[in-house]
Amino acid sequence: MTGRRRSHDRRLAARRPYRGAGLLARFRIRDQQHLSLCILQRPHAVRGAVAADGACDACRPACPLCPCATGKPRPGHRRPLRLYPGRRGHGDRLRHLRRVLVRVRRTGPSPASQPHRQEAGRHRSHVALCADGRVAGRRHRPDRRGMGHAAMAALEAGAVRLRHDVRGRHSPGAHRAFPYLGDHGPRRADRRDQRHHQAHLCPRHLGPAAAVGVHHSDHRRQHLEADVNDDALIDALKARLPAEAVRTDDDALTLAMHDVHVTGERPVAVVVPKDAAELASAVAAATALGHAVIPRGGGLSYTGGYAAPGPGAVTIDMQGMNRILDIAQEDMTITVQAGVTWKQINNALKPLGLRMPFIGTFSGAGATVGGGLGHGALFFGSARYGSAADNVLGMEVVLADGTLLRTGQGALAQPSKPILRSFGPDLTGLFTHDGGMFGIKTEATFRLIRTPAEQGYASFAFSDIRQAADALCEMARADLAEEIYILDPSAADAVHADASTMAKTAVSVARGAGGAFKAVKALAALAKGGTDFIPEGHFSLHLTAAGRCAAAVEADLAAAHHIASRRGGSAVTPTIPRVARAEIFANLNGVLGPRGGRWAALNAKVAHSDAHRLIDAFDAMIAPHAEEMAAHGVRYTRLVSALANHCFSFEPVFHWQDRWQPLHRSAPDPVHLAAFEEPVPNPQGRALVDRLRRETVDLFRSLGAASNQIGRTYPFRAALSPAPDHLLSTIKQALDPRGLMNPGVLGFA
Ligand SMILES: Cc1cc2nc3c(=O)[nH]c(=O)nc-3n(C[C@H](O)[C@H](O)[C@H](O)COP(=O)(O)OP(=O)(O)OC[C@H]3O[C@@H](n4cnc5c(N)ncnc54)[C@H](O)[C@@H]3O)c2cc1C
Repeated sequence: MTGRRRSHDRRLAARRPYRGAGLLARFRIRDQQHLSLCILQRPHAVRGAVAADGACDACRPACPLCPCATGKPRPGHRRPLRLYPGRRGHGDRLRHLRRVLVRVRRTGPSPASQPHRQEAGRHRSHVALCADGRVAGRRHRPDRRGMGHAAMAALEAGAVRLRHDVRGRHSPGAHRAFPYLGDHGPRRADRRDQRHHQAHLCPRHLGPAAAVGVHHSDHRRQHLEADVNDDALIDALKARLPAEAVRTDDDALTLAMHDVHVTGERPVAVVVPKDAAELASAVAAATALGHAVIPRGGGLSYTGGYAAPGPGAVTIDMQGMNRILDIAQEDMTITVQAGVTWKQINNALKPLGLRMPFIGTFSGAGATVGGGLGHGALFFGSARYGSAADNVLGMEVVLADGTLLRTGQGALAQPSKPILRSFGPDLTGLFTHDGGMFGIKTEATFRLIRTPAEQGYASFAFSDIRQAADALCEMARADLAEEIYILDPSAADAVHADASTMAKTAVSVARGAGGAFKAVKALAALAKGGTDFIPEGHFSLHLTAAGRCAAAVEADLAAAHHIASRRGGSAVTPTIPRVARAEIFANLNGVLGPRGGRWAALNAKVAHSDAHRLIDAFDAMIAPHAEEMAAHGVRYTRLVSALANHCFSFEPVFHWQDRWQPLHRSAPDPVHLAAFEEPVPNPQGRALVDRLRRETVDLFRSLGAASNQIGRTYPFRAALSPAPDHLLSTIKQALDPRGLMNPGVLGFA
């Protein structure tokens, strides 16, 4: 233990009524219905409140003695852990017991200075909090080795059912010693979560006790994973939703806890609502029981946006809400459920000669509207029309308590068609780029445009990324294209390598070219480009121009050629932008890198005038890591693009070979997947990538850059100045007083 930690403990000790067995506790009986407790536990703190219905707001910050009652996070005091009442009881025989076990486990003897040493015994000890206000220390039985001590004490008290031992293994002794564990015993828990010890509390025997919120630190989690009455939650959800909408199977839970790069805690359940009413009902049920709710769209992000920060969360899988609700051709709007993908929208609008201005992301075959609005999705169409958030006119959102709220003109008492987004302060904007921290989007309305009659493509090679960036900025300022982007030399090589995609794409290119003559021309262009259209080691700039007539497109392309040549670029066959547009939203094979490896990107948005500064700063940051990166097989590429005509977007992408996340197995086409063997785990490579990502994020922050896809990767809140931080915290507090709506995303717990 560090000296600092020791003095911290001493400070706490001076103010507490009980200290022993490695546990510091404060608690008080509030009334007949509520017991609040605060456990200050070395080296971290836990706190909580117990309420009769498990949903008492007043109880949450209940303990006035507790430094954590301020709600301010402090080191080692992060994760919510909850205790819930058990559903089925073994409690009849133990009616008299009213204990909530809060903490047990201590290895080795207690320090002599601690008064409870004798009581706790030499080996391990546990403590139970009693409803009459006493803290009871109990002696551990060394012969029941491997049992979680928390569960042990609770089992003895009859209030808790054992699910796991602390080391995550099934403990056969538990069944022998406590036959009443029955179906709810360790075997089932084993399937649910190999790592966690879990126990259930029985409300009848805890009297008023029903829910306890506890904060604990990561590295202690294995010692204390008491709690959570999953069954009560699952019952509540099943009572409100069709059984098939509440998933607790391993596949669903596993997928929900991993994004493309980040792994979070395993949720208790995955709810798949099919409409706003079901969603609102599920959210209300879960939060009433004190569970966090976490929205997940297509799941195709890599910044931990839906990675649960602690146990007990419910993932709301939006993929069941995938209906296009209205295409108002006269009004030029489309209204969709939030689980609709960009591909669905594009397919529905195409026959009508319409499209969204922002068309979608590279991941648009699976990425959803809700995820895109929450994450500031951008790419196809973004150089001219901005991001998804720039094109939304109104939304419907479910708040943490299940309230349905509409924004834009939908917010009016006399609701009208959502044509004007900001009638008064921009409520719609509040729910964009928010990572779902304010609420879960159920519906969104976007504006539409007529599909431009003509499209054209251009590509240029540059020997230097700065020259390419200058050209991109100039083209963006002149509004010459719908998307403009720069690929690193090795990123373009990956396109070369994927010749089979190219062959398949040829058909789409021909199909999408419009007319036999154009098809032949397009295929000829593709063939000419072949696989060597970019000189080795060159950065390539690509653009898609679009307009009402061929002359307008040609004029834009001519202007682009002029700019590129002035900036030192040379024209090459525009195979890449043509293929990208022809096969827009083709598949999700891109979750895997070129050789079946992994990748994870970061991004920074700055003004055009800061482009060089950003590129130079990143180069300077990454250069000293070259050797280490080579040693662990980590490399990087850069993707540069234009967002509207004023914003420069820079995305370093780290690549390495490593064990796959579940999404790497489930998202790509089976045929594509079959071409690769899953790489062996590369923990050092992964750790290096994580370190480089952190350094990159710090660098972006130091340059004042903004980012989309904030999730839990960018320190958004920490980067705010006090006034906006206060405003956003106040809004969060008003919308989600218990912090149960995607806690931790954007840094708001
Ligand atoms: C191969 C590949 C290509 C990509 N290309 C691009 C690209 O071109 N442009 C780009 O911007 N990004 C891209 N991404 C990143 C990612 O796909 C996008 O950020 C995308 O918008 C995520 O959408 P999703 O539906 O998968 O959201 P998820 O990953 O499921 O969720 C993203 C965030 O939104 C929240 N959320 C999800 N649904 C809702 C809802 N209904 N209400 C409230 N909050 C919600 C989640 O909690 C999470 O915080 C790419 C990723 C991959 C793997």
